[in-house]
Amino acid sequence: MSFKIKHYVALSTLSMLALFCTMVLLRGGFRQLGTTPPVVSIESGLIPTRENATLVFLARNSELKGVLTSMQNLENRFNHKYMYPWVFLNDEEFTNEFKGRVMLETNAKVYFGLIPKEHWVQPAWIDEEKAEESRRRLTEQKVIYGGSSSYRNMCRFNSGYFFQHPLLQQFKYYWRVEPNIKYFCDMNYDPFRYMIDNNHTYGFTIALYEVPETVTTLWESVNEFISQYPQYIVNDNAKEFLSSDGGNTYNMCHFWSNFEIADMDFWRSDAYQAFFKFLDAEGGFYYERWGDAPVHSIAAALFLPKNRLHFFQDIGYQHATYQHCPSSDESMGNTCSCHRWNTIDTKKQSCLPQYKALYMNTSIRIDRAQGLFPWW
Ligand code: GDP
Ligand code: MN
Repeated sequence: MSFKIKHYVALSTLSMLALFCTMVLLRGGFRQLGTTPPVVSIESGLIPTRENATLVFLARNSELKGVLTSMQNLENRFNHKYMYPWVFLNDEEFTNEFKGRVMLETNAKVYFGLIPKEHWVQPAWIDEEKAEESRRRLTEQKVIYGGSSSYRNMCRFNSGYFFQHPLLQQFKYYWRVEPNIKYFCDMNYDPFRYMIDNNHTYGFTIALYEVPETVTTLWESVNEFISQYPQYIVNDNAKEFLSSDGGNTYNMCHFWSNFEIADMDFWRSDAYQAFFKFLDAEGGFYYERWGDAPVHSIAAALFLPKNRLHFFQDIGYQHATYQHCPSSDESMGNTCSCHRWNTIDTKKQSCLPQYKALYMNTSIRIDRAQGLFPWW
């Protein structure tokens, strides 16, 4: 090989190396901006570092089949790499069959907890006649779960008590899981880590409209709370996600709480504690059918700056009839087993436009999936 050719080869190798290093550095830099979550190398066989977090699953013994389906799916798409512990909660003791079958689905630690009665059953101070009247009215109006007391218990528990359960005291972040849900995409990074790195408190995948009959007086109560506790309403909040007329009325938008990745310390905070106590005393969990989804969403939108909320657009997720399927831009290269056109985001039932509108005109915000270079 002539000196000239050798020289040329060496020079090209060096420039390739320089280009590679620059790209690696740039990629690291973007990660810091929150554009690309860190990808885990599973091939190494090592379990990546875990955050202080858990997968929380409220379920009945009778739901075992749907519980196993959800577990298999989430283990397969995500948790076999991380082995985050699972916490199962129930208002009745879990059967040995339930516990045995569940433990076979994961290599991670599994905890089973009984919910204390006082965190579950309709409180004695609730006027049962009035509650019964609400169940009758909502049944007549054909509202889903309108006639159910246990559904109301569940909504109140998820609103005000799950994060107080003794088994959850050791954890800060949680990921809520329900029976018969489906994750469409492989998840190659840790969403908990992402929440921490980007200073997020509440993460969701689907935003929807609530059934108005279930929350007839909720907004009135919220406004009453705001006037009594103005100190809890933060600047730069997401109130416009909740109200499209400057706060007069509730537009029914909420984050669908059957999926949540969030920080339990927010629910344990003075602001949220005061809020739940206030709403609970109004009796609306039983005199109407207030859901934990609007209650959580209203709190997150009012007591947190909007940059603490996060839309997990890369997480393909299905619960009952609704699903979010990431577009190829949103999926960050992960394999998804759903069709982009089959997504709630662009349908009239979705509140995603209201959410996205919160961040318009914010020039410095870099959309995580779009990035600076979408192909990168
Ligand atoms: P939907 O998602 O609003 O249709 O309501 P689900 O029936 O899925 O209930 C929401 C969550 O609460 C699920 O994880 C259920 O397993 C759980 N759940 C609902 N009712 C009860 C109950 O009476 N006891 C227990 N232990 N879990 C419940
Ligand atoms: Mn459900």
